[in-house]
Amino acid sequence: MIRMVEVDKYFGQLHVLKNINIEVPRGQVVVVLGPSGSGKSTLCRAINRLEPINSGSIEIDGKPLPAEGRELASLRADVGMVFQSFNLFAHKTIVDNVMLGPVKVRKTPKADARRTAMELLERVGIANQADKYPAQLSGGQQQRAAIARALAMRPKVMLFDEPTSALDPEMINEVLDVMSTLAEEGMTMLVVTHEMGFARNAANRVVFMSDGDIVEDSTPQDFFTAPKSARAKDFLSKIL
Ligand code: ATP
Ligand code: MG
Repeated sequence: MIRMVEVDKYFGQLHVLKNINIEVPRGQVVVVLGPSGSGKSTLCRAINRLEPINSGSIEIDGKPLPAEGRELASLRADVGMVFQSFNLFAHKTIVDNVMLGPVKVRKTPKADARRTAMELLERVGIANQADKYPAQLSGGQQQRAAIARALAMRPKVMLFDEPTSALDPEMINEVLDVMSTLAEEGMTMLVVTHEMGFARNAANRVVFMSDGDIVEDSTPQDFFTAPKSARAKDFLSKIL
């Protein structure tokens, strides 16, 4: 579903993605781990061309990612993205935030978009917050709203870049629970996270990055019990 082949990315002299090959098959969850600065966010951003790449190819659902134009906009709409910061529109209510993409991009009639938005807010457990503004919600609730907003576009894949790392500890699980449910329902997901419990329980594969390289690509079982590389061993010894 997501396929990156021999992707290279430079920021000036800095080689941040080095010949990256990665595949996320339909319905699978791949968790990306790695130290700060290893290129995890750049990888996510490359997938929907928020960052241009220098060489290689990226396919979503068998279609190469176009560089620009209307086709890019339409492919991007197939890729839902949730960031560390919630990026909700502060001057719009929660339900309006969730409706916005479908109404503007998908040209969904407002009444339909609102109905779908309310169903999604129900699914992430915050339907009772629909008419509030983002600042009136807790961090965990805002992040669940951000997930609902991404889902409203009916994406084929979801990318998560450290969705819980800005949250207070007591709110982390409510967001991880929503993500686990999505995974169980068969959503194709690429998830950058430091939540090892989620990686162990929800991931089909764990990809470990270091200095722009994919150093390991294995099952969570193998990665956590028998990491092969010194860099992964070192990383695990610091976080577990
Ligand atoms: P973290 O765990 O801290 O979020 P990361 O693995 O997501 O780290 P990236 O944000 O992808 O790492 O950054 C990879 C490298 O690229 C880092 O060395 C970073 O400083 C550099 N970098 C990221 N964005 C830019 C940019 N816009 N311009 C220049 N260098 C950048
Ligand atoms: Mg990052």
